[in-house]
Amino acid sequence: MDVLPTAYAGRILTGDYSRTLQERTFSIIKASQQFDNYSFPLMPYITAWNQEDNTIWYEFVGQQLMDLLDTTPDNMSRAFRNAIQDQRIFHYTDVSQSEIAEEVITRHQISDKRHNLRKNVQKNKKVEAVYQVALPSGNTIWLKDRGKVELFPGDNITLTLGCLTDVSKEMEQKLFLEQIGYVDDLTGLPKRNILDKLFEIRTGERQRGYIKEFSVLMIDIDHFKSINDTYGHQAGDFILKEMATLISSLKRKEETIGRYGGEEFYGICRGTLQSGVELAERIRRNIERHVFTHNNTDINITISAGVASTEEMEQGSMDTLLALADKRLYQAKHQGRNKVIGKE
Ligand code: GH3
Ligand code: MG
Ligand code: MG
Repeated sequence: MDVLPTAYAGRILTGDYSRTLQERTFSIIKASQQFDNYSFPLMPYITAWNQEDNTIWYEFVGQQLMDLLDTTPDNMSRAFRNAIQDQRIFHYTDVSQSEIAEEVITRHQISDKRHNLRKNVQKNKKVEAVYQVALPSGNTIWLKDRGKVELFPGDNITLTLGCLTDVSKEMEQKLFLEQIGYVDDLTGLPKRNILDKLFEIRTGERQRGYIKEFSVLMIDIDHFKSINDTYGHQAGDFILKEMATLISSLKRKEETIGRYGGEEFYGICRGTLQSGVELAERIRRNIERHVFTHNNTDINITISAGVASTEEMEQGSMDTLLALADKRLYQAKHQGRNKVIGKE
């Protein structure tokens, strides 16, 4: 190459690669540098992936992106990886109908998914993802990543010519809409419609060996109709709200408790039937002890719960798990209420 770009931290131009690859790399680095200099609100980068030893590095990182992450080209990979909080991949499931499926990958799943992502990138010859990134400044932004892939089989190299754009406004709007759709107005708890999504995420974690089992809880307030009849519907609403706060304070961060509907709640927690029963029992005990005070009137309530776990079934769906938990809930009702049942 006649002139190396300044601050070149890549490997292709100085390594043992074909002239075709080196010339192509050189020209796209030059072009990206030019582009970056003009400070369009787009941040170009170029990565190279060596399939032989499965290493990835940056051939070019624009100044804008380095300034944003406060890093240098050789530290770019680590800086970017550490900054990622959340990642959304948009798959084109059916190109003819332009249907787009979204996949949410949490931070700890990213490295596990990376292999599949690379394979997909190679197959589709494009990269399309959105990352939530924590900046050194303390701000959190969403970056959309779009890239085009070029394959150099003779060199075992895949180049990605990519560009990042700030899409924070769009993503915040999207998340806000999701929240409206997912959160119950009265209690602030997740609604029933995220159960399928949660089941999918937990099943994925189980298949990848992150968790062994997970359990589902169905919780129902005892004699709630007579609470309404005795103290009024407003008192009933107040109890539902306060109960939601109480339950939320009792669960661990990774456990989800939502409102199934009416005076029924669901729970999903990682772990065996035993740990699901323990969570339900913790909730039952605390509600039994809690005094709900509405308009100077003290009210006591109890709940019944049924618990079912993936360890009990060969290939359970969300519906079969819920049905089993529901069956046990009704057994708890039959056996006198204020009770948790995890096995007949
Ligand atoms: P059981 O112990 O068998 O569960 O008896 P229950 O009275 O709780 O069960 P039932 O299904 O007969 O009644 C449920 C009651 O819950 C009836 C309904 O008025 C009340 N309810 C459902 N949703 C709400 C709500 O959002 N606010 C209030 N205040 N009451 C509600
Ligand atoms: Mg009910
Ligand atoms: Mg009830």
